[in-house]
Amino acid sequence: MIAPDLATAISELRGLIAGAQSIIPFTGAGISTECGIPDFRSPGGLWTKNRPIPFDDFMTSSEMRTESWRQRFVLEESFAQAQPGRGHRALATLYHAGKIPALVTQNIDNLHQASGIPPQDIVELHGNTTYALCLACATRYELSWVREKFEANGQHAPDCTCGGYIKTATVSFGQAMPAEAMQRAEELTKRCDLFVAVGSSLVVWPAAGFPLMAKRNGAALVIVNRESTEFDELADLVVRHDIGDVFAPFIGN
Ligand code: NAD
Repeated sequence: MIAPDLATAISELRGLIAGAQSIIPFTGAGISTECGIPDFRSPGGLWTKNRPIPFDDFMTSSEMRTESWRQRFVLEESFAQAQPGRGHRALATLYHAGKIPALVTQNIDNLHQASGIPPQDIVELHGNTTYALCLACATRYELSWVREKFEANGQHAPDCTCGGYIKTATVSFGQAMPAEAMQRAEELTKRCDLFVAVGSSLVVWPAAGFPLMAKRNGAALVIVNRESTEFDELADLVVRHDIGDVFAPFIGN
């Protein structure tokens, strides 16, 4: 059903949560918009301003590596200030209440960790943009270090001491998905009895396959997203209201 109003949405969601043994939230950029981080596909979203740089372009062009870092530093103003929103806080409450064994996210903003869910129970399908890794030797670099070198090099992306390229620890378009995270997400999805997609347009594959997988394995499917998605017809409950408003009643003390 498509919830006809916010009160019905909250009451239906409450019933599904109360009856579930194992809930897997699957979050996307929409959960973080109230925290000041724009999503990709809403009007005025990042997609319209800075088209993501495909992985091949990053690997083959030093201009693209520099451009990628320039774009990242522009975003730092909103990322650095962002605090968990009502959706993050409600999911953290449900995690600590034992309803959620782990959470699967497409987000790269570290806000689920900031909400108090331990990192080992957050499955990041697209990595994390709050730090960087060498693509050759996997050495970790902090963004402040990269920025300092970037400025000192006349606005050029620095390389690792091993000669490898340094990139935010995110998965770009065209880059291989992290195998371990994909496997864990699949196991969690297949074992849950309630799967809740929150703030995702559900168009980025293979991540978008998880709601489908959950439904096929017998879980109830809830989709909370302002705009309609391709999977709405499959869902047991569709909520087209603001994520913060929907989840505010689930925030604990
Ligand atoms: P998306 O931008 O494609 O879709 C976000 C959806 O959230 C939209 O359909 C929009 O209508 C909805 N939405 C936005 N704010 C909402 C609100 N307050 N209440 C209800 N709905 C709201 O995002 P996606 O599906 O996550 O896919 C985009 C990719 O971009 C992901 O892979 C992710 O890694 C990356 N991304 C991440 C961030 C982040 O980490 N915060 C931000 C931008 C993009």
